Amino acid sequence: MPRTLKVITEARRCTLCADALPNAPRPLLQASRQSRILIIGQAPGRKAHETGVPWDDASGRRLREWLQLTDEQFYDPALVALVPMGFCYPGTGNSGDLPPRPECAPAWRPRLLKAMPDIRLTILIGKYALDHYHPGRYQTLTDAVRDYQKLLPTQIALPHPSPRNNIWLKKNPWFEKQTLPALRRQVRSDN
Ligand code: SF4
Repeated sequence: MPRTLKVITEARRCTLCADALPNAPRPLLQASRQSRILIIGQAPGRKAHETGVPWDDASGRRLREWLQLTDEQFYDPALVALVPMGFCYPGTGNSGDLPPRPECAPAWRPRLLKAMPDIRLTILIGKYALDHYHPGRYQTLTDAVRDYQKLLPTQIALPHPSPRNNIWLKKNPWFEKQTLPALRRQVRSDN
């Protein structure tokens, strides 16, 4: 088991935006100095907040299937870093979970990225991660997902693997036919 990074220990104690959260802060992230694949999602949902395990649901199962990683590989910080745009569950609004807290990325991301010098592939899941890494570059998430050949081998943008996105997957069959094979080849070469 890799040694826990100091910045991770500190981030897990963070209370910076506690007043704006619906529950006591419970930052969920995984990373090590050896991590090679960085997965940047939105923020933990209610279930992850309760169990303390990110991506332990239908979305996570589909994401592991997209990446062709076992549970063991996915939850191994020596291979995979899970560093969402917000580390704590932000609460739920009228149309799903609220956006990740804006305090989180500036407070923690630069130090965390510095502590992981071996990241070879960064996987941006959803619009918040995309807008943070490529502000103004893509009009829609679909445009960025479609641009996988330009972003690989170091990055790729993915739609959220939630079952709610089944309609998007049906409308964009090129994603499963072309993007996923390219992603899997890259993941295989990085693990
Ligand atoms: S969301 Fe981020 S900034 Fe806010 S308390 Fe959690 S770890 Fe700290």
